[in-house]
Amino acid sequence: MSDVSASPAPSNSRVTVSACPLCDGRKFSPVCLSAGHPVVRCEGCQLHLLNPQPSDAELVEIYHPHYSFFGDEQAAGVAVSRCKQATAAHYLDQLAKSGISGGRLLEVGCGDGDFLVQAARRNFSVEGIDYSPHSCRKSQAKLPPGTPVHCGEISVLAGRSASYELCVACDVIEHVRQPGVFLDTVRNLLQPGGWIFLVTPDFASWTARLMGSRWLEFKAEHLFYFTPTTLRRQLTQAGFTDIRILGGKKMLSLDYVTWHFVTYPVVGITPVLRFLRAVLPKSWSQRPWLVPAGGFVALARKPARS
Ligand SMILES: [Zn+2]
Repeated sequence: MSDVSASPAPSNSRVTVSACPLCDGRKFSPVCLSAGHPVVRCEGCQLHLLNPQPSDAELVEIYHPHYSFFGDEQAAGVAVSRCKQATAAHYLDQLAKSGISGGRLLEVGCGDGDFLVQAARRNFSVEGIDYSPHSCRKSQAKLPPGTPVHCGEISVLAGRSASYELCVACDVIEHVRQPGVFLDTVRNLLQPGGWIFLVTPDFASWTARLMGSRWLEFKAEHLFYFTPTTLRRQLTQAGFTDIRILGGKKMLSLDYVTWHFVTYPVVGITPVLRFLRAVLPKSWSQRPWLVPAGGFVALARKPARS
């Protein structure tokens, strides 16, 4: 997820971004506050980012062992896993429609392994990497014995250049300190002609426009806020071609959405969801639905000859 956990004594200093990682511009305009952190817009390329960004120590605190599911309740974990596997099946359908239906697959930021479980059922030879030991253990338990799940930052795979036909990173690129370096690393891991599949919140989405400074994706750990335009430019700079922007629907249930709003409470919404979940039948509240979720998918290719 992030490149901040390796240090045994993370820094307490917030990180000021002096030059835009996309266009190298140095003029930033204030937009709003996100969880106490200023959101700014680069006037050169319209990329939005937190600036200054949380310290390493603040991010370590945020990525606690249960970061990837909403609290300790087993019911929450079940609801989240059900939705994530249904969303994974949807993403795999999108990949199949683009002619990608097998091969050696690496998921970066594999979390609890729900995407890999679905991909393994569809003839992909899967591997995962996550910086959280807790998530790595959960992934390993869900996957067939012997499935490689690497624990650490993506840099631990540096010696595996040109190993994969597909690299997947769902809800990861908005977390990393240096998106360009992250994409360079992924490109190096891909075989010539291999694909990258990214999912990230869409700052140009109707939910972002409607909710303004109350947009649900404004979080201290979301360091960058891409649109299809800015991510396309970042992918191009990293040497990717054949860039396709696809819809970002996810499978969500009332249970999942409720747990999200319990974790990130919003006045006027969290109590209504709690009420609905209490009065509606479980069979209804647990059922995942395909809904627009304020994000988008980007699919791009490493050139066959670079
Ligand atoms: Zn810029």
